[in-house]
Amino acid sequence: MNASLTAHAKTAASTAAQAIFDYPVESFIDGSTQQPRTRQYLNIIDPGTGEPVGLLAQSGGEDVDAAVQAARTAFADGRWSELNPEDRERILFRLADLIERDAEILTEIEARDTGKPLAEASLDIAEAAAVVRYFAGWCTKAAGTVVPAPREYFATTTREPLGVCVAITPWNYPLPILTYKVAPALAFGNTVVAKPSELASVSSVYLAVLANEAGVPAGVLNVVTGGRAAGEALTSSADVDKIAFTGSTATGKAVLRAAAETLTPATVELGGKSAQLVFDDADLAAAVDGVMAGIWTNAGQVCIAGSRVLVQENIKDAFITALSERTSNLAVGHGFSSGTNIGPVISEAQLDKISAFIQTAKEAGATVTTSDLELPDRGYFIAPTIIADIPAGHPVASEEVFGPVLAVDTFTDEKDAIKKANSTPYGLAAGIWTRDISRVHRLTRKLEAGTVWVNTYGVFHPTLPFGGMKASGFGRELGPQAVEHYTQTKTSVIQLGTSA
Ligand code: NAD
Repeated sequence: MNASLTAHAKTAASTAAQAIFDYPVESFIDGSTQQPRTRQYLNIIDPGTGEPVGLLAQSGGEDVDAAVQAARTAFADGRWSELNPEDRERILFRLADLIERDAEILTEIEARDTGKPLAEASLDIAEAAAVVRYFAGWCTKAAGTVVPAPREYFATTTREPLGVCVAITPWNYPLPILTYKVAPALAFGNTVVAKPSELASVSSVYLAVLANEAGVPAGVLNVVTGGRAAGEALTSSADVDKIAFTGSTATGKAVLRAAAETLTPATVELGGKSAQLVFDDADLAAAVDGVMAGIWTNAGQVCIAGSRVLVQENIKDAFITALSERTSNLAVGHGFSSGTNIGPVISEAQLDKISAFIQTAKEAGATVTTSDLELPDRGYFIAPTIIADIPAGHPVASEEVFGPVLAVDTFTDEKDAIKKANSTPYGLAAGIWTRDISRVHRLTRKLEAGTVWVNTYGVFHPTLPFGGMKASGFGRELGPQAVEHYTQTKTSVIQLGTSA
């Protein structure tokens, strides 16, 4: 990217989006924003400049208690759970429309908060609206059953909401991941306390404000801002009925330990180290595109990042050459600069962590190719990096880096490819690039991954269930499976007496 363009990159949001950052961003509890009882605020940092751009309330236990209490009261009095399903449906459709009405503002908020390019942020907002609309439709579709019990009984199952659902989310896709949890929870009559990541919370609070405008009653959707302390207070609360968590595997374990204490059901969507398998019969250009999208999107900070590519031995050189050439045409820059393909990473701490992976791989003798793309002179930027010949046991091949770093390995045949693909503790996703349809089916059965994409990568849609295996978590979000996670079944059995 041209140096002067970088220097003069547009870093200001539009007036409407900027106005939101001009005031402290605070929790939305019981139908209105509330100042933190802690009286503490964190700086909101623009990752593209490293500069503070606003303040975020750092909530504590008392704020969490207020939000849980509001959600409990709202659930108990039936102001939402006892609405006719078509009334909840109408309100959630309206919410989807409002997200679209304010898409431009939300896009800029998300780009400012996370650093991602505007074009990527705009896809996030469109996805969030689509998810809300999809689950709005479920309000009127989650039916119970009539059970084929012995004939002297009439038995049914009905679906009931769980109660107060907690949604804890990460910073990489703040609004879509929030809607994966909030939309099904609300559709089936639950109330919610959400806690977004302290690194990117603004769009989540904005969603609560839009929900209020759409007609979601006060107390039904509460958003508590803050960090780990707020998350811990929520997961250890004895007054919540479900926890849905997305974040790192280490935090997921802490969440599950807390949930065990109160016997609260929890679903966890965790980290990944997903492999893309490129066979020698693949459409090479398409595979290169897919691998690039899999690892450079959102600067590699994606749970399903295809952070490992396994290439069939005989095409390794051709593949790497094409990948490096295509990567050298990208532009790294501020998310608001036109032409930016790869934005900054989220924070200085993340930058240091990624740099340490690269440095130690280099020291261990791996072949590290860092693209010579020009980087802005401030902000948390890192050049796309391809690492090959990784010595056995080096963590860059098996641990989640969460940055624009691609680990390359080779395989000889299908068996070798499966063994290597399944060789990490994670099991979130995998990609297969081949023209052989029988091979596709053989491999799909064997890959330990919640989602397998074939000749494409990273396709998300509200209809497609998503979740992990192994250390990537359990539970499925999106698709009809979500019904299971946000309702409980009640069985009723009626004695019919003797037949006439
Ligand atoms: P993180 O685990 O650090 O934080 C996630 C959330 O948990 C944040 O809101 C944080 O404030 C909160 N939190 C932190 N400690 C807590 C505790 N002890 N109790 C309760 N809550 C706590 O994750 P992150 O850095 O925000 O996000 C990146 C991670 O998320 C990566 O590992 C990525 O793979 C994962 N992720 C997974 C998916 C998926 O669907 N599988 C999707 C996106 C991101």
